[in-house]
Amino acid sequence: MKRPNIVILGAGYGGMITTVRLQKMLGANEANVTLVNKHNYHYQTTWLHENAAGTLHHDKTRMKISDVVDTNKINFVQDTVLSINSDEKKVKLENGDLEYDYLVVGLGFEAATFGISGLKENAFTISNINSARMIREHIEYNFAKYNNEKEERQDRLNIVVGGAGFTGIEFVGELANRVPELCEEYDIPREKVRIMNVEASPSVLPGFDEELVEYAMNLLEGKGVEFKTGTMIKEVHEDKILVEKDEQQEEIPTNTVVWAAGVRGNSIVEEAGFETARGRVKVSDTLLAPGHDDVFIVGDCALIMNEENDRPYPPTAQIAMQEAENVAHNLKVLVRGGSDLEPFEPHLKGTVASLGEGQAIGVVGDKKLFGWTASVMKKVIDNRYLFMLGGVGLLLKKGKFNIFTK
Ligand code: FAD
Ligand code: NAD
Repeated sequence: MKRPNIVILGAGYGGMITTVRLQKMLGANEANVTLVNKHNYHYQTTWLHENAAGTLHHDKTRMKISDVVDTNKINFVQDTVLSINSDEKKVKLENGDLEYDYLVVGLGFEAATFGISGLKENAFTISNINSARMIREHIEYNFAKYNNEKEERQDRLNIVVGGAGFTGIEFVGELANRVPELCEEYDIPREKVRIMNVEASPSVLPGFDEELVEYAMNLLEGKGVEFKTGTMIKEVHEDKILVEKDEQQEEIPTNTVVWAAGVRGNSIVEEAGFETARGRVKVSDTLLAPGHDDVFIVGDCALIMNEENDRPYPPTAQIAMQEAENVAHNLKVLVRGGSDLEPFEPHLKGTVASLGEGQAIGVVGDKKLFGWTASVMKKVIDNRYLFMLGGVGLLLKKGKFNIFTK
C-alpha cells in the first residue's frame, strides 16, 4: 500500500508539536511526513516582544529545526508557501510544488490593520524574528541619531504602541525596562522619551480581571508608560500619528509606531478558498476545514467557538499546542485505516502576561497571580513548552532559569 503524504505547513507552535508528535507516533514505513517552513529555524512567537524591545537577544528565541526534529524521519523543506490548491491536493511553494494526502495548515497570524490609513506602510508589527529585530534596531537608530542632528526631533523619542491587549502590554513592559538603558547609552535624559500605549477600549486589557489590570497599569505608569485609553489610532504617517478620543483629534509626532492591535489568520488560508472569518477557518470539531476530510487547520489560522459564551477562543500558543496534539492523534488514526476521530476539546489553564523583568500578572485556574510569583509562573510556562518540544536537552539549552533576571 502507498504510504500517505502528510504535509505540515509552518513550523510554529502548531506545526512543530504536530511534527514531533507524528515523529514519535508513526513508524518509518507508515507515512511520509514533510514539514515546510520559511526559515530553517523555529521561534517562540510568545517571546518576540522581548526581542523587539531589545531585552532578550533573538538567538535565545529561535532554534534550528534540525536540532529539534529528526530529519532522518521527517522531510524538512525550507521554502515559502505561496498557495494551497485543495481540489488538486497540492501546495505551491516558491521553489516547487508538493502533493499531499493529508495537509496540516499552521501558518500562523498576520497583523489585522482594519484599513487604517498609512498603517501598513509606516507601522511595525511584532510578527516574527525579522520584524522584531527591525523594531529593536529602529529604536536604537533613533536614539543614536537624536544627538547628531541640529534640530531636536521629538518624533525620534516618542514610541507609540497601538493596542493594549496582551501583546501591547507585554511590549511596553519590556520597553519600560529597556528605555532607561538606552538613555544611559545614548546620553539622552529619560524624561525626554515618551512610551505611549494607545487603546481604543475604555480600559487596557479589555475583559481581563480588573484588579490585575489596575496592578499592571500602576506598575507600568510608575515606570513612565503613558496610557491613552478610549483613543483610536486613525492615521499613521512617517513622522506622526493621528488619534481620536471623544471626537477630538490629536497629532502625536513619532516615527516609531508598533501596531499590536489585533491579529487575523495568514491570508493564504483565505486565498485558498476555505471559508473564513477574520482570516481564520471555522474548523469542525476535529479541526478539519469545512467540506474537507484531508485538511486540518491548527493555531492562529483556525477559529473555534466557545459554546459557553458563543465567542471564538482567542488565538493563543496554548490552544495551538493542544490542537496539534489532537491533529497528530487523528492523523495516526487515519494513516492506520481508522475513521473514529477524536473531537478537540480545549483545556484552558489560564493566562499569564509579563510586565517586564521580574513582573507579571495572571490567572491560573482560579488563582490570581501578581508580580514576582506571576513572573516565575511565566518562566515555568515557557520552559514547559521547550520540554514538550525537545525534552530536557532543549530545556537546558534554551530555558529561562534565572528567576531574578531574564
Ligand atoms: P506561529 O507560532 O506564529 O508560527 C507560524 C509559522 O509559520 C512560523 O514559523 C512562520 O515562519 C511560518 N510561516 C508563515 N507564513 C509562511 C509561509 N508563507 N511559508 C512558510 N512558512 C510560513 N499565546 C499564548 O498562549 N501565551 C503567550 O504568552 C503569548 N504571548 C504572545 C506574545 C506575542 C508578542 C505575540 C505576538 C503572541 C503571543 N501569543 C501568546 C499568541 C501566540 O504566539 C500565537 O497564538 C501562536 O504563535 C500561534 O501559533 P501558530 O502555530 O498558529 O503560528
Ligand atoms: P488583541 O486583539 O487581544 O488586542 C488588541 C487590542 O487593540 C484590543 O484591546 C483593541 O481594543 C485594540 N485596538 C484595536 N484597534 C485599535 C485602534 N485603531 N486604536 C487603538 N487600539 C485599538 O491582540 P493581541 O494583544 O495582539 O493578542 C493576540 C492574541 O495573542 C490574543 O489571543 C492574546 O490572548 C494572545 N496573546 C497572549 C499573551 C499571553 O497570554 N501572555 C500575550 C500576547 C498575546
